[in-house]
Amino acid sequence: MNVLVLGAGQLARMMALSIKPLNIEVLAYDVGSKQVVNPLAPQHPVCDLAAGIERADVITAEFEHVAHDVLALCEASGKLKPSAQAIKIGGDRRLEKALLTTCDAANAKHHIISSEQDFQTAIEALSLPIILKSALEGYDGKGQWRLKSKEDAATIWQDIERFISSNPKQGIVAEQMVPFSREVSLVGARSVSGEVKTYPLTENHHTDGVLSVSTALADEPQLQQQATEVFTRLTQEMEYVGVLAIEFFQVGDQLLVNEIAPRVHNSGHWTQQGCDCSQFANHIRAVCGLPLGSTELARPTAMINILGEDTLPQAALGMDGVNVHWYGKEKRAGRKMGHINVSGKDQAQLEQRLLTIAQLLPNESFADIKSYIAKQCS
Ligand code: AMP
Repeated sequence: MNVLVLGAGQLARMMALSIKPLNIEVLAYDVGSKQVVNPLAPQHPVCDLAAGIERADVITAEFEHVAHDVLALCEASGKLKPSAQAIKIGGDRRLEKALLTTCDAANAKHHIISSEQDFQTAIEALSLPIILKSALEGYDGKGQWRLKSKEDAATIWQDIERFISSNPKQGIVAEQMVPFSREVSLVGARSVSGEVKTYPLTENHHTDGVLSVSTALADEPQLQQQATEVFTRLTQEMEYVGVLAIEFFQVGDQLLVNEIAPRVHNSGHWTQQGCDCSQFANHIRAVCGLPLGSTELARPTAMINILGEDTLPQAALGMDGVNVHWYGKEKRAGRKMGHINVSGKDQAQLEQRLLTIAQLLPNESFADIKSYIAKQCS
């Protein structure tokens, strides 16, 4: 079988690597060069988009901000999974909020803004502090403003007005700030026949707004059930096929949806070593109409993102239970260059190994990660 992935980054690369044993070939559409490439050698174009669509049995996406004309072309071929609409929902916070409302999925109180009048209404309707997020193309905390006191409203509105006037389709979602105790996410897959399998919830830590550590949560049956119910409702409503991630805020015993990603997700990278079938293999299985693989926790595992570094100490690479995944990218400050999966035979061994690897990682790029691990594991 041949799969075309829209987007030629590390997610397409890891899909290709994961599914080769099932004799499935993955090509990727590079939205920058507008060429179809081998995701393991993206510098060598293979063909153009039309030829890529023609030779694919199935088309899917590694990110939600795919140009709508490209989505329409792929959908017209009858090969796109998940649907163009599901991908668009993930790329527009207004559509996302509408889906959450339809599915009665708990989330922060919010208000949609497209004018100064809406902005004033939001301030009155939602008590401060509020967070204002761009509806389109916002990720990793970009395109966001925090309004803590009314005195700052005029300055923030000026900034937002400039931002939204650059794109007539742009809008803002204002949300009440949620006093969460932690951020968790659920990654799961839905098959063509509607079967749902979810991985264990993952606890997520961010450094400067970017995910830096994800740890599989083995023992949270109540939260797992809550999250799985939300996953099932949302994916059923969209008739979704493939892997989808839901990010949640935990407030007491309740999970509030923050956002959804209609694709494999950084907080699911640990499944490469933590489960018998990774999120990448399960996504390709789902969109190809194959049975889903096991999503059970095979071994306690955590993932550490490598941000802005292209080498690691040899001693870290040589540790038992450590697997390093590089993305083949050129080094740039803060860029996601790869990740490290750390596993143990039980939680105690995992924590011991996390403490050991944290000692070995350089201070410069890993300072926040090191102090997070020290706090979590001691
Ligand atoms: P997002 O791009 O929506 O994932 O937001 C980036 C980060 O901002 C999240 O990971 C949270 O730490 C924080 N954040 C977003 N929305 C809220 C909210 N409603 N209340 C509190 N913190 C939030």
